[in-house]
Amino acid sequence: MYQVLKELKVELGDRSYPIVIGQGLLGAYDLTPWVSGSQVMIVTNETVAPLYLERAKACFPGKSVDVVTLPDGEKFKDWQTLNLIFDRLLERRHSRKTTLAALGGGVIGDMAGFAAACYQRGVPFIQMPTTLLSQVDSSVGGKTGINHPLGKNMVGAFHQPNIVLIDTDSLTTLPPREVSAGLAEVIKYGLIRDVPFLEWLEANMDALVRLEPEAIGEAIFRSCQCKADVVAVDEREGGLRAILNLGHTFGHAIETYAGYGNWLHGEAVGTGMMMASDLSLREGMISASDHQRAVALICRAGLPGRAPKGMTPDDFMSLMAVDKKNVDGNLRLVLMRALGDAFVTADAQPDNLRKTLLEFID
Ligand code: NAD
Ligand code: MG
Repeated sequence: MYQVLKELKVELGDRSYPIVIGQGLLGAYDLTPWVSGSQVMIVTNETVAPLYLERAKACFPGKSVDVVTLPDGEKFKDWQTLNLIFDRLLERRHSRKTTLAALGGGVIGDMAGFAAACYQRGVPFIQMPTTLLSQVDSSVGGKTGINHPLGKNMVGAFHQPNIVLIDTDSLTTLPPREVSAGLAEVIKYGLIRDVPFLEWLEANMDALVRLEPEAIGEAIFRSCQCKADVVAVDEREGGLRAILNLGHTFGHAIETYAGYGNWLHGEAVGTGMMMASDLSLREGMISASDHQRAVALICRAGLPGRAPKGMTPDDFMSLMAVDKKNVDGNLRLVLMRALGDAFVTADAQPDNLRKTLLEFID
């Protein structure tokens, strides 16, 4: 038996879709109403398949279900590995009515989604995210894609899923570092536009770190709600959606400096949000006690609070210069006017920025 804890809808006109959050959904929840044809192809990886593949298949009773199992890791989010999905689809003669289902974390979701956007010019797509980060962030909003040797997520498409099925039980097998990394994105939603959620997180962070089901279900629901609201206003990142990048400009610099895989994305975002908060304080926008609240919450999620050893302000400046948000060579950062009120600015004082960078390096 399964239990649905929460449901919400991403409002995008005729591309609207539900997000269903619950326990025991994999293996029990009937996804066939979301599959128009007779064929399904589950895209997963070598780590997730032994844990959840049989249960995922059981969500499609009466359908013909094929599987492609990819190698695990961000380094396989590339053309060669993407092509394995197309190989399998064509070998098995999947038609334009086939449905692709992503079973795994954000890497699998982004790749399966991009394959769905491209295969025969676009086929339906279902998200079954199994990491906290993918459940609160990457499975919602329709951004899909792969990395290029010269840049992360540089090749992709917008392709919204038909449904997102979030089984919180899958988090029980997730390594604790991955849980903390997901919590960074959860905290982000509170900091950018939801003070009541921030207060709720302060009251419940210990339960979240322990993965208590009710707390984790609520945190996922409120995070998805926040992302869904932002995406409904700005599906293709013409404006508001950029605030979802709080901490990410500093964070991407850290990830690149450390080498992908050494720092998890969420870990780098955690430190990056502390840096954005520090700069917001120096710019006279938030108070010292607000900044302390942000830092304390991020620490309680088990996230690092210092830049990698040896990283210099110049490393930060040169790595941040290639950020996608920049316009005409001007560095644009997401800062907070107040807790729960993030915005994008190109006007941070260079002197304050330098002080922030120095504050976080050893
Ligand atoms: P990931 O997909 O690499 O998963 C992390 C690790 O956990 C992997 O080793 C994976 O195999 C393993 N795993 C997955 N589920 C598990 C489970 N239930 N139990 C045990 N292990 C499990 O990483 P991620 O953090 O989920 O996602 C990061 C990716 O998401 C990046 O490529 C990033 O670019 C992308 N992303 C996309 C968006 C978007 O809007 N499309 C947003 C944020 C991040
Ligand atoms: Mg992120």
